[in-house]
Amino acid sequence: MYQKVKGTYDLLPKETNKWQALEKTIRNVSKIFNYDEIRTPIFENTELFHRSVGEDTDIVSKETYDFIDRGNRSNTLRPEGTAPVVRSYIENKLYADKIPIKKLYYMGPMFRYERPQKGRYRQFAQFGAEAFGSTSPLLDAEIISYAVTVIKALKIKDVEVHLNSIGDQESKTMYKKALVEYLKTDITSLCSDCQRRYVTNPLRILDCKIDKNSEFLINAPKPIDYLNQESKDHFEKLQQYLDAMEIKYVVDSSLVRGLDYYTHTVFEVDANLDTLGAQKTICGGGRYNNLVSSLGGPNIPGVGFAFGLERLMFALESINFKGAPDYLHLYLMILGEEQKADGIKMLNRCRIGGLFSDIDFLDKNLKAQFKLADNLNARFIAIYGANEKAKDVINIKDKETGKEITIDKHQLYNHIVAELMTPSKSCESCEEDSCDECE
Ligand code: AMP
Repeated sequence: MYQKVKGTYDLLPKETNKWQALEKTIRNVSKIFNYDEIRTPIFENTELFHRSVGEDTDIVSKETYDFIDRGNRSNTLRPEGTAPVVRSYIENKLYADKIPIKKLYYMGPMFRYERPQKGRYRQFAQFGAEAFGSTSPLLDAEIISYAVTVIKALKIKDVEVHLNSIGDQESKTMYKKALVEYLKTDITSLCSDCQRRYVTNPLRILDCKIDKNSEFLINAPKPIDYLNQESKDHFEKLQQYLDAMEIKYVVDSSLVRGLDYYTHTVFEVDANLDTLGAQKTICGGGRYNNLVSSLGGPNIPGVGFAFGLERLMFALESINFKGAPDYLHLYLMILGEEQKADGIKMLNRCRIGGLFSDIDFLDKNLKAQFKLADNLNARFIAIYGANEKAKDVINIKDKETGKEITIDKHQLYNHIVAELMTPSKSCESCEEDSCDECE
């Protein structure tokens, strides 16, 4: 028997309902912020990720799924979404659009050869956003507000926004120098990866999963102390804008994030929920002023974020997120071969009219069909057998009210719609009997 590949998972129908609801919320919030969807290929030329994410990042050095195609070209399954979006932005000259700020979002699978655990997979899904065309901290503030609004719309509480600035290129260079000086004093106390990074990319050492809590690293110089005036101004304005929007955050001076392309703002959102296990970071992002030009495009800045959708789903578990409705409006019981043509015609009419409807396909007896209707959580059960056919009627039972009546069979659809529109006591949005939020 075949089994799924390590680090991957199947989404079965019960879960896909919830995923669709999650995706719908994300798309609605994206529209509110005026971001449009972009869909790029699942694989790109390997070189794209080496040039953008960085040769010495864990993602590129250890985690990519690379393959040589039949034309002897090296391709990579995308490990993240920003580089492909930037590639597409440049290739399709989206910067030449009438609207100067291009605001894009994406959703889809990413691939990293990581050690699988709860919240960490080899194929996982991200929702990310990228905004191009302005160096203004207003756009950083918008991106953070967009991420926070998605979280609010999903009603996830207990989240913390961690914010830092690593400054522009000049500040980063100054900081790197100071960091190298400091690390030189005791570099051998760090892991072998860090010792290699010390030569190739010292900034990355601060992200090291092994040495993160070592006293020596905790006391290392912080990027925030090496910001030049322009970088300081940018960071201060961003904080002012976030304060104005009443978005709560903590400045986390050791946050650098593991990718090469960031400048100025970096941020992460952590959720403090038991359902998340050890992987608490649900979103990460930042500004990248030089990425577009370094990939051969014009000198246009960008800022963005990415959420891990599996981790959002875990966060939603803790608030009993129900997802799309898991019920049918109508279960139609067609009894007897002669009734099938008529029955399927009625069913089709109800489906075209938008009622969630189903029937039996296995010629089950009455009792088994009642059970099936129950399992499908159908509100109305309509019975159409030889007696009903003879009189052109249909029998309907409303499971919610317990009412049972016989009506003209041509009125099946209209009857159900009329009943569905009759207000019930319960709150329509959250389906609770009385709900403060919705009232
Ligand atoms: P990154 O692209 O590394 O900044 O990741 C952005 C977000 O994607 C993280 O905050 C996680 O929520 C999610 N993520 C990253 N790697 C994985 C993975 N291997 N499995 C599941 N989610 C991931």
